[in-house]
Amino acid sequence: MTTIRTVGIIGAGQMGAGIAQVCAQGGYEVALYDASADAVKAAVGRIEKGLARLVEKEAITTEQATDALKKLMPAASVSELKDCDLVIEAATEKEEVKNAIFKSVCEHLKPEALLASNTSSISITRLAAATDRPGKFIGLHFMNPVPIMKLVEIIRGIATDAATYETAVAFAQSLGKITANSEDFPAFIVNRILIPMINEAIYTLYEGVGTVEAIDTGMKLGTNHPMGPLELADFIGLDTVLAIMNVLYEGLSDSKYRPCPLLVKYVEAGWYGRKTGRGFYDYRGEKPVPTR
Ligand code: NAD
Repeated sequence: MTTIRTVGIIGAGQMGAGIAQVCAQGGYEVALYDASADAVKAAVGRIEKGLARLVEKEAITTEQATDALKKLMPAASVSELKDCDLVIEAATEKEEVKNAIFKSVCEHLKPEALLASNTSSISITRLAAATDRPGKFIGLHFMNPVPIMKLVEIIRGIATDAATYETAVAFAQSLGKITANSEDFPAFIVNRILIPMINEAIYTLYEGVGTVEAIDTGMKLGTNHPMGPLELADFIGLDTVLAIMNVLYEGLSDSKYRPCPLLVKYVEAGWYGRKTGRGFYDYRGEKPVPTR
């Protein structure tokens, strides 16, 4: 097993920031890189706020929050990740983006360094095959919001070696997470089930079966889900939901996974949900208001 001390995270959006926070809290040195320097800055700000909230709730001490922040190093280029024992990629859900990231980071890494992707749906085997280290490549699928959600799905590619798998499981557990293994098929377990349900909720809206409010209230109170499916879609990011549906549709060649045209339209408009201020709800006012 590889000893992990330093973790590099590529992509400082909602997931990358959350993963950076839990790694820093777990005592790892963390280097956080994003193609956008502003995203790194915003992520550090969100992590500071997140830790302050935990102190307020007395979940951690002020000293623990300060220690975690000290472990966090914003990186201005991927070359600053050269000493990392593990690099976790959490960038936009596009295969070409992820492949380009792995290509640019691998040339700086030690040969024994492990690589992980936080992809929600893309084949780990295929991502791994495009790197210089398929045996040391694994899927580490954290859930959103990372500091709160207990699960990490672990996905082995066809070439992932046993030591990489064991190290990845031990690493996730060291962050206080519980792991579930998934075979490497499109969208793995959680999103194979969740995202088609969300897509169906969007069809339900598209076909006029119910309003945004009726669909979310129905599913919250009727099935005891903490969030309605449209609210959850906005929370995940509609660009990510569409990307996952496309991976299912293309990867399984089954028309039951066709993305709802209304989802496509929202993404075309740049209405990605919470992260852009508008999706099935408009978040720009005091409280969220349905957009249709
Ligand atoms: P996001 O849009 O919040 O963040 C993506 C970040 O990647 C952005 O800051 C962007 O600047 C950065 N990025 C894009 N291209 C880059 C590059 N070439 N190099 C470095 N950084 C780059 O997205 P997110 O919700 O954090 O999702 C990130 C990954 O995590 C995706 O693979 C997604 O499928 C997965 N994921 C998302 C969720 C969720 O609920 N949103 C849950 C689990 C996994």
